[in-house]
Amino acid sequence: MCEADAHIAGLDREARPRVSRRAVLLATGLAVGATVFSANLTTPARGDSAASRYLRPCGDVPISSTWQGHRNLKPPSGEPGTDYAVAMRTPIRAATAGVIVDRKDTTDSATGRYIALRADDGNYIRYLHLASSAVTNGTRVSRGQVIAYSGASGFGSETGYGSHVHVSLWIGGTPNQLGFTNTVNFENFVEGGPLPTYPEDDPVPTHQATDLSTSVALPVNAWTTVAVAAGQLYLAIVGVGTVETADVSLNLKATGLTTGLQVRLVAEKLASNSGPVTSTIVHPVTEIRATAAAGSPTQVQHAQSYQLVGPMRLFVQVMALNGGVTLTGISVRKNYWTS
Ligand SMILES: [Zn+2]
Repeated sequence: MCEADAHIAGLDREARPRVSRRAVLLATGLAVGATVFSANLTTPARGDSAASRYLRPCGDVPISSTWQGHRNLKPPSGEPGTDYAVAMRTPIRAATAGVIVDRKDTTDSATGRYIALRADDGNYIRYLHLASSAVTNGTRVSRGQVIAYSGASGFGSETGYGSHVHVSLWIGGTPNQLGFTNTVNFENFVEGGPLPTYPEDDPVPTHQATDLSTSVALPVNAWTTVAVAAGQLYLAIVGVGTVETADVSLNLKATGLTTGLQVRLVAEKLASNSGPVTSTIVHPVTEIRATAAAGSPTQVQHAQSYQLVGPMRLFVQVMALNGGVTLTGISVRKNYWTS
């Protein structure tokens, strides 16, 4: 935790008028690491810690879309579940003991890569949009065992979404037996739950898609801030008292890459809606390197989840690792909600 995060934590706590389910999750969201600007607040006491209840896949991290939020989509999700916003390649732990009964290793379709657990209690749990699975089909796993690593896969891409893990739960049967849409709310079965339900905590995430063609000559070995859409410098601007939770994927196109390109998100904490900047938070970097085997790459994909506690703003920086690189395009796919 750096100074900036501690400062944000204080603001977050003061700004919240009540402890909602989401606030509890946000307040305990430290485990997601550096890619989410979550605050390291104290974990609230929970009355229920029965070991028989399920584990969240990545601890108490922010939820970027609830089960009800998936059902509220128009059209509704074909497999309603809970989206946990975590950085790429976060270990995913089995909710309970059982056997791995299904696994998909390709990025195609809305699910992307997934792994499925038939729990010893007869229930069925799927984890979607993975970067990779860690255990093979037929493996018996214990509660808390790492079974996969989170990603953003779907629709044939490693970054079909922002980075998160989607968890679906069926009670007493398989999705083929019960119907893929007949899931229940996993959050109601987790250790420490069910937490109080507030209808306003189930927003439909807003989906934002922008595609910008550009022509920006990049200086070598220097970070350059790039626009994300026509006339739009910032990926997000969040005002005083507002929290934005999101997953985002970027697809950058470039020419002239002979060594490589790096991309990162940078957040600025502001003193007020109109500034000035009081601190800067730099996120982990995605880097693509040209190799003799792969030749010159033309695209860099970067997926990330984040949380901004206003007043903050977020922008994209790129750095060319060789001279003569031109950024020719940037596409943004972002799902977000504010509270
Ligand atoms: Zn989802």
